[in-house]
Amino acid sequence: MVLFKKVNDLHKWLDSQHQKGSTTGFVPTMGALHQGHISLVDMAKKENQLVVTSIFVNPTQFNDPADFEKYPVTIEQDILQLEKAGCDVLFLPSVAEIYPKGPGDAPYYDLGYLETIFEGKFRPGHFQGVCRVVHRLLEIVQPHQLYLGQKDYQQCMVIKALLSLTGMNDVTLRIGKTLREKDGLAMSSRNMRLDKESREKAPALYACISGLNDQVKPGSLAKLTSEAEIDLIKKGFKPDYISFADADTLEPVAEWDGKRDLVILVAAFLGEVRLIDNLVRHHDQ
Ligand code: AMP
Repeated sequence: MVLFKKVNDLHKWLDSQHQKGSTTGFVPTMGALHQGHISLVDMAKKENQLVVTSIFVNPTQFNDPADFEKYPVTIEQDILQLEKAGCDVLFLPSVAEIYPKGPGDAPYYDLGYLETIFEGKFRPGHFQGVCRVVHRLLEIVQPHQLYLGQKDYQQCMVIKALLSLTGMNDVTLRIGKTLREKDGLAMSSRNMRLDKESREKAPALYACISGLNDQVKPGSLAKLTSEAEIDLIKKGFKPDYISFADADTLEPVAEWDGKRDLVILVAAFLGEVRLIDNLVRHHDQ
């Protein structure tokens, strides 16, 4: 695996590879890698000649400065895991490389209602920061295919909107399924921050949305979601939201016609650690 820290060096190297006709799959990450990230590298490897992974803890997407400061950094292990997975290039830029004019010089991405609901509502500015870094990374790497995880469901929709807003429609978006621990907890870099007691409680989040998936039937969904919220609170969570939404548009669904594909979305704090998860339910399930 080749490691680049400078945009110009990466550019030169990628140009020479592209001239040979290699297709590039790109996996953007914030490091503290786990098997979920590696599954995206595996997917990219199967579908491209070259795989580029970036590790950049993007300051502009953290609405909570304490969350940024405490974001886990495990770069040595990350490099070992990427080597083992057969990743070709690791891009490890500094903040100055990504934001040469400083993090304050920000464009605005019109994400419409996507930015006003769920993660957009509870993490103001988050998706602007996500778009900004992904836009910049895509301009640098110029991949053929971009790999994202379904774990961040709304983020996938935001990036789809970004590709269209910026005219980067030639980049194919590929979405990998959520990898989970044996007890159902969605793998996440933030899981490392859970203390023993919280780690034991954490699988209840997935159990909760799985329960909703089992119980949902056409009609009003309000009682189901309010009971689920009370249940999470009893189990020690502080939920931001738990909701059904249209799987294609993310429009919240309070009354289900039994036909639309649904996504069940949850975000909740366990102590200081905020966890998110989701589950897609196809109407014919
Ligand atoms: P992050 O490092 O958290 O920014 O995540 C980098 C990429 O990995 C994003 O596209 C995430 O959606 C994806 N990802 C995070 N957790 C998982 C998981 N448990 N399974 C699959 N992909 C994941």
